[in-house]
Amino acid sequence: MQNKNPLNIILLGISGSGKGTQAKFLCQRYGLEYIGTGDLLRTFAKKDNPASRKLKKDLSEGKLAPTWLPFYLWMDKLVEVDEKKGILFDGSPRKIHEAELLDEVLDWYDRKNIKVILIDVSEKEVFKRLINRRTCQSCKKSAYVSQNQGDSICEYCGGVMHTRPEDNPDAIKKRIEWFKKEVSQVIDFYKKKGMLIKVNGDQPKEKVFEDIINAIEKNDNDKNTR
Ligand SMILES: [Zn+2]
Repeated sequence: MQNKNPLNIILLGISGSGKGTQAKFLCQRYGLEYIGTGDLLRTFAKKDNPASRKLKKDLSEGKLAPTWLPFYLWMDKLVEVDEKKGILFDGSPRKIHEAELLDEVLDWYDRKNIKVILIDVSEKEVFKRLINRRTCQSCKKSAYVSQNQGDSICEYCGGVMHTRPEDNPDAIKKRIEWFKKEVSQVIDFYKKKGMLIKVNGDQPKEKVFEDIINAIEKNDNDKNTR
């Protein structure tokens, strides 16, 4: 069954929601192909072409990538994914027209088994996590430290972990506002279609993962008995 109708997951959540960790857990559990907007953009920015150079400059100035670019990168990756393999979309879509377009694309690929999971975290918790987030200068992995701890050492590569400039209180507040304004439309879009699964992200990551698994499997059972 899994093969004929592979599971596809669209993972939504603000930065600091633990989305990356859950994406990793879910890909392992269900053998999904990972399509992550952040990774794709970073890889693309390293290439040597006019668009990559412009993107690199934009990102270094803290600007968001234009909407069409993540889409172009997803599509480029999607054309190669085996039809029997499920896909996990991490960090997408961010705007309502991206959600609509992604819907059309998945429909064309005949991918009907789609779960949209929102990792819902309170503003207070997001703020607390991001203010205590340190990012490795070498491998770019992030970790959360205890309150007011300074620079530390990366557990993956031994590099120096520091606070990224965009993790200052004002920038964090702006990001929360942006998420509420833009992504809430995407959330409503999926809610109206009856596709949204909301999970409490304020809990420890193992519990969040358990809730996601239960929600996915319960959702499947509900559909089968309907
Ligand atoms: Zn590192």
